[in-house]
Amino acid sequence: MVDARPLPAPDSVPQRRLRVIFLGPAGAGKGTQAARLSELLGVPRISTGDMLREALRQGTPLGKAAEPYLEKGTLVPDHLLVNMITDRVKDPDCARGYILDGFPRTLPQAEALEELAGPVAREFVVLNLEVPRDELLRRLSGRGREDDKDLPVEKRLQEYEDRTTPLVEFYKHRGMLRRVNGFRPMDEVSAELKAIVEGRG
Ligand code: AMP
Repeated sequence: MVDARPLPAPDSVPQRRLRVIFLGPAGAGKGTQAARLSELLGVPRISTGDMLREALRQGTPLGKAAEPYLEKGTLVPDHLLVNMITDRVKDPDCARGYILDGFPRTLPQAEALEELAGPVAREFVVLNLEVPRDELLRRLSGRGREDDKDLPVEKRLQEYEDRTTPLVEFYKHRGMLRRVNGFRPMDEVSAELKAIVEGRG
């Protein structure tokens, strides 16, 4: 039997805001996957690394404050990141959602984000892109980006281990963590990420 009921008018369908957090160390493919997902879903990718590098290039007060950290390749102080993100997510292009690439990176940042999001904090999808350490080292040793040169690859991974992996427990505890195997062909990873975010995975 054909269901003859009219479809609901588009504006009566509640629009779910897609808010995604990407976790994963340097070399896991986070930036690439976040960019693909952003295109597929039509919501902006917010890369804190890109924003900080741009602030530095433009010589803004934020850029100046972040400079010594960016030069060393260590984490920029939490309050600078929290202020930057608080402003950024208010931009009109974030009205339908956003993909956070590179934030939060510490527990205080995750707590600040939770507070900022308020009652919808648990609606965030947290994607943890997992790649074995050996493979990360292999990928990173061939990369050679400017901010990679001062802090050796091993140290970058160790800083991630020390300061960012506690977030895995933080989000697991809240039932928000989705683990994704990043040690596979890129298209397979993208397909799984898309399915998860669309609620099919
Ligand atoms: P990325 O391109 O994500 O590797 O970020 C480049 C650099 O920006 C990092 O090495 C840090 O110095 C800084 N940075 C980016 N995101 C954060 C964050 N959430 N917290 C602290 N520092 C950050």
